[in-house]
Amino acid sequence: MKHSPLVQGLIDAFTCLPGVGPRSAQRMAYHLLERNREGGGHLAEALTSAMEGVRQCSRCRNFAERDLCPICLDSRRDQSQVCVVSSPADVLAIEHSGEYRGRYFVLLGQLSPIDGMGPRQIGLDQLEQQIQAGDISEIILATGTTVEGEATAHYILEMVHGTAVTVSRIAQGVPMGGDLEFVDGATLAHAFRGRRPV
Ligand SMILES: [Zn+2]
Repeated sequence: MKHSPLVQGLIDAFTCLPGVGPRSAQRMAYHLLERNREGGGHLAEALTSAMEGVRQCSRCRNFAERDLCPICLDSRRDQSQVCVVSSPADVLAIEHSGEYRGRYFVLLGQLSPIDGMGPRQIGLDQLEQQIQAGDISEIILATGTTVEGEATAHYILEMVHGTAVTVSRIAQGVPMGGDLEFVDGATLAHAFRGRRPV
């Protein structure tokens, strides 16, 4: 049996979510149509609002609903200390640890030429501008220990070479690259305190 066009369209739309194949997508679509029309309507509204209203902070690339995110606007934080992370989820995890009082730079990815992720795609030209402008005194690399995370860290190190910016990496042994959210706050706080100059 074939689905009607509208139902098929809904199922296809759900498959854009990570880990959702055709079968799960069908289950979700049927659930909303059969049992939760109100929830479906709410989901549609929330999706539209978020997709239209959430953009990237012009300074750190984290999600923001204005030009600058609340962290970049916070004058009580050290705006010259910058922690470089792969994803907004990493920011959340580090904030949760309560250890860090600087700001962030969110790559929204990692260097991976095979996947079409070059320096520009992850905003490294923007980071370089901030370094050249003298806005940054310290960079803390928290891009993770995967091959891509290492390559990204290496690229940033090259970029900083010859400038007055000091660079450190948070302690090894912490799985990262979007996975920081699974690390407990105490471990992350420890990793921050144990950061080493590179
Ligand atoms: Zn920001």
